[in-house]
Amino acid sequence: MLFFYKNTNLLSKALKNTLKYSGLILFDIDGVIRSVENSYRLSLKKTVYKFSGWEPSYIDIDNAKNEGIWNNDWDLSLELIKRYIKKENLKLQIPSREAIVKCFEEFYFGGDPNNNSNYWSGFILNEELLVNKEFFDKLQSNGIIWGFVSGAESASAKFVLEKRLGLKSPPLISMGDAPDKPDPKGFINLSKKLLGNTLGPSNIPIAYVGDTIADINTVMNARKEIPSQKFISIGLAPPHLHLKSRLKERNSYESNLRIAGADLILNSINDLENINLAVF
Ligand SMILES: [Mg+2]
Repeated sequence: MLFFYKNTNLLSKALKNTLKYSGLILFDIDGVIRSVENSYRLSLKKTVYKFSGWEPSYIDIDNAKNEGIWNNDWDLSLELIKRYIKKENLKLQIPSREAIVKCFEEFYFGGDPNNNSNYWSGFILNEELLVNKEFFDKLQSNGIIWGFVSGAESASAKFVLEKRLGLKSPPLISMGDAPDKPDPKGFINLSKKLLGNTLGPSNIPIAYVGDTIADINTVMNARKEIPSQKFISIGLAPPHLHLKSRLKERNSYESNLRIAGADLILNSINDLENINLAVF
């Protein structure tokens, strides 16, 4: 069988991975690797305000995200504007998606996303990192392969992973590489790429770490597609709910993640440093 395998490099790499490594963890980026409270979420609030005169609170945004389908912040901005205009019976025109994207990007990047990030002046510069590079080095030395599956734009995802965290060519699926979550295609494709197409009962466990219902649903949908593969869903509440004053909301947010199917809820992303995926 080995002699007929077209890409022996890929096969030997996959075999090596399976022997050497005990699991694969793929990470969502926003709310997991970085706080987007003062970047994406702020751009969302300001965009909705610009077109409707109303600024949604973090609770309004969390409630909408709990519906499990609003993984794209442009679409969510438009949806919140539509809902508000309808609710208040306002005589306002609903903006085009293009107008939303343009406004949002101006707030978020404050410059051309395709240009060098040194020229950006938007809210993206506010982002607080929730992990450091050493975290990923530790995972690797603990036998965990890692990568990223995010709905963020490629320019934004690469900025945080490469420029801010200092990771070299990290495995990444970002917006446009695959259908939006909770469609599991991006998650499954990157898993296959990293493990050499060997998903199934003999493969090491694969976990996905995310902060929204859509992230949990992505894992549930992957299980439906490849029932023989061990998929683990790990959730954590986004950083804005980790304030002491928001403990009640955080508890209810986490219980929603559990109800959606999360196998484990983390207090902090750093709790993963010593995780054993074999116990799930
Ligand atoms: Mg997220």
